Amino acid sequence: MKQYSKREFLKIMGLGIAFAPFISLYSACSSEGKPENKTKANEPAAEGSTPVQPQTDELDISKADPDDIILLKRTDAQFAGLNKAFNGRIKKLPLYIALCKTTLGVQYAIAHARKEKLPVAVKSGGHSFEGFSSNDGGLVINLSQMKGISWKENEQVSLQPGCLLQEIQDAIFARKRLIPTGSCGTVGIAGLTLGGGYGFFSRKYGLTCDNLVDVEFVDGKGQVQHAAANKELFWALRGGGNGNFGVATNFVFKTEDMPATFHAHVLKCRQLDTERFTAALQTWFSVSETLLEEDFCAFVLNGSTLTILATTFGNQNKLAQNIGPLLSIADSATNSSTELPKAMKRYYGRKGPILFKNASAGLYQSYEDIAAIAPQIFEKVVAAKGMIYQINTLGAAINTSAFEAQSCYPHRSLPYLSELQAYWDKPSQEAGLLKAFEEIQALVRKQGITAQYRNYPDINFPDWQHAYYGKHYEKLQQIKLDFDPHNLFQYPQSIAGKDA
Ligand SMILES: Cc1cc2nc3c(=O)[nH]c(=O)nc-3n(C[C@H](O)[C@H](O)[C@H](O)COP(=O)(O)OP(=O)(O)OC[C@H]3O[C@@H](n4cnc5c(N)ncnc54)[C@H](O)[C@@H]3O)c2cc1C
Repeated sequence: MKQYSKREFLKIMGLGIAFAPFISLYSACSSEGKPENKTKANEPAAEGSTPVQPQTDELDISKADPDDIILLKRTDAQFAGLNKAFNGRIKKLPLYIALCKTTLGVQYAIAHARKEKLPVAVKSGGHSFEGFSSNDGGLVINLSQMKGISWKENEQVSLQPGCLLQEIQDAIFARKRLIPTGSCGTVGIAGLTLGGGYGFFSRKYGLTCDNLVDVEFVDGKGQVQHAAANKELFWALRGGGNGNFGVATNFVFKTEDMPATFHAHVLKCRQLDTERFTAALQTWFSVSETLLEEDFCAFVLNGSTLTILATTFGNQNKLAQNIGPLLSIADSATNSSTELPKAMKRYYGRKGPILFKNASAGLYQSYEDIAAIAPQIFEKVVAAKGMIYQINTLGAAINTSAFEAQSCYPHRSLPYLSELQAYWDKPSQEAGLLKAFEEIQALVRKQGITAQYRNYPDINFPDWQHAYYGKHYEKLQQIKLDFDPHNLFQYPQSIAGKDA
């Protein structure tokens, strides 16, 4: 397996963290299914009915079956490995890691945390930009071993939260089906879905959370809930479910037919100056307005080199025609048409930990939103080696009223998501990059851009409550009180109960 140097990595990260090429070391997860959850409350209950459940206060972890849960202390051999996060910048030290293998194991973990009065964080794929899936001195519910994948009727698929995107894609593509997820192979399906989830297929099929049929969920009281039987909870879990109210222990998704071929254009503009940059940016926005639902486009500034990735799983000729104005300003352009499963592996990215700071840098309506600050963003990115500024297309099917009504994701009418990324390998580089990072975020704020993507959090966002959840924050606070009244689940930007 080829190991990449930091320099090589930064170069290939010209396509940004959301679309980094394949270097992964993970092995595929069997679709034949590891053991399904053992709890008896595994099937959706009818609305209003109460499933038979263990009394969680009576669960005594010292009597738990190791096939359900292993409670690890700091001195245990497995602890340090499980404590690692994808982001090497983040260092946290919980008191316990509860390695849960079943839903019942999660209930044991919650009972134990309640008994010891410990705050709880939930970790699935461990890719949280700000380390929100761990804590200092509390209990972390680690779901990395819950990797079951099994098929249900009507080509629906049941996924446990420890599944990583590349494991899911391998299993789903083998059956010629598709779920619209992100593309980085080592991201967890759980965190991605609970915060929204977007990628190459979202403009056609919606966010990842829009494709959910049900979620099995253990709330802060230790009770197993089925989101399909609880409209409010389901609404909250689609965009607001990251570690706020409890633990998602199983996801059921509908799937789509897998398109046969993925077409990609990669355009490069090198040694840009401010004028060429802003002209390219303006052209990119006007071109992206012409894209079809099957198309996706990313604008990625890395130093003074601009990379534009335009993809489709639909009409290749139409895409080539629509991106014509970009082709005419690019220094070079390549294109490829590849069998879809093979093409997706190019974007699986690498295994961490790596040192970085990434965050949402605003959702936009149009070029006008950033026209005034574009020259300054360009100059700051060029001056700060290791900094990447990226804009991705959302919109199209994401912005439909049915999806809007059933989820708390609040930014559907904003068709552009920008992200800021900074990578370094020497500790001495960190402070300068973080300063430049914050200066760009301040520019964005000054411009009046406040909407941010919850899955790209920044610990420094003021009023993150409304930046992530918009007008829905207060309703989410009520739901927090219903499902986690004692605020067991908490991290620096977790939803607080209404009275908190
Ligand atoms: C390299 C990289 C590429 C990315 N690419 C994309 C992309 O293409 N599209 C996109 O939309 N996003 C992308 N993201 C962002 C990604 O969606 C978030 O980082 C996501 O939260 C990661 O989920 P996780 O399970 O891996 O992380 P974790 O760190 O385990 O969890 C993230 C958050 O979700 C909570 N959580 C995790 N599991 C559960 C659970 N079972 N129940 C309740 N809460 C839970 C955690 O408490 C935490 O707050 C990318 C991130 C990285 C680092």
